[in-house]
Amino acid sequence: MLEKKKQGLVRHAGFSFHDDAALLDRVLTEHPEMEFVQLQINYLDWESPWIHSREVYETAVKHGKPVIVMEPVKGGTLAHVPPEAEKLLKQAEPDLSVASWAIRFAAGLPGVMMVLSGMSSIGQMEDNLSYMEDFRPLTEEQVAEMINRQIAVPCIGCSYCTDGCPMSIPISRYFSLYNEDMRENLAEKGWTVDFTNYDNLGGKFGKAKDCIACGQCERVCPQHLGIIEKLRDVSEHFDHT
Ligand code: SF4
Ligand code: SF4
Repeated sequence: MLEKKKQGLVRHAGFSFHDDAALLDRVLTEHPEMEFVQLQINYLDWESPWIHSREVYETAVKHGKPVIVMEPVKGGTLAHVPPEAEKLLKQAEPDLSVASWAIRFAAGLPGVMMVLSGMSSIGQMEDNLSYMEDFRPLTEEQVAEMINRQIAVPCIGCSYCTDGCPMSIPISRYFSLYNEDMRENLAEKGWTVDFTNYDNLGGKFGKAKDCIACGQCERVCPQHLGIIEKLRDVSEHFDHT
């Protein structure tokens, strides 16, 4: 690519990235000649421990690299949010589409130079153009409220519960995956990568269905979560056998 740039065939060299912030930091430190980074950024993946939207975005900004956003609507998930969330969005901005919230979140971040939005109809294109002309970014408070409303298990990931688990169940990581999947439009997609992530973790540690309800975890959880019952939900969702 850099060779093509020297020949004048490529104007700007950059890359898309699908890993964590530490690796991006290393890549950008070792390759300062890269001029931009393309990242998966949307308000659902912002704090995701699997996608790391916020952390990779902040890393790109730290290195002074303009960001191109991919998956701002998370494969259509954020265009078809649960009815309760849709009501909230429509109350706040009756004239704006549900998808516009996702695009405006990504486009409103300082340092974002482009948002790639897949469109499959003239209507979607007209919708995108309408709010991009009169641009109003989402506020962080609004986003936080929307995210919090959609969290199935309000686990903070402290992992106090896992050390003493006799079945070596990675409780917080399962809750994180479950929360992630509850925000997906499963009816439409049928499958998500969270199932694979769950199976991979279950191959190394205890599965959610292995919980023997000893109660150790619930005694130490600072959030006082009903972990045993929540793990049953996780098992019902992810365990196939
Ligand atoms: S109740 Fe289940 S998850 Fe909690 S410590 Fe006991 S076996 Fe582990
Ligand atoms: S102790 Fe509670 S809040 Fe902390 S990781 Fe375990 S379930 Fe989550």
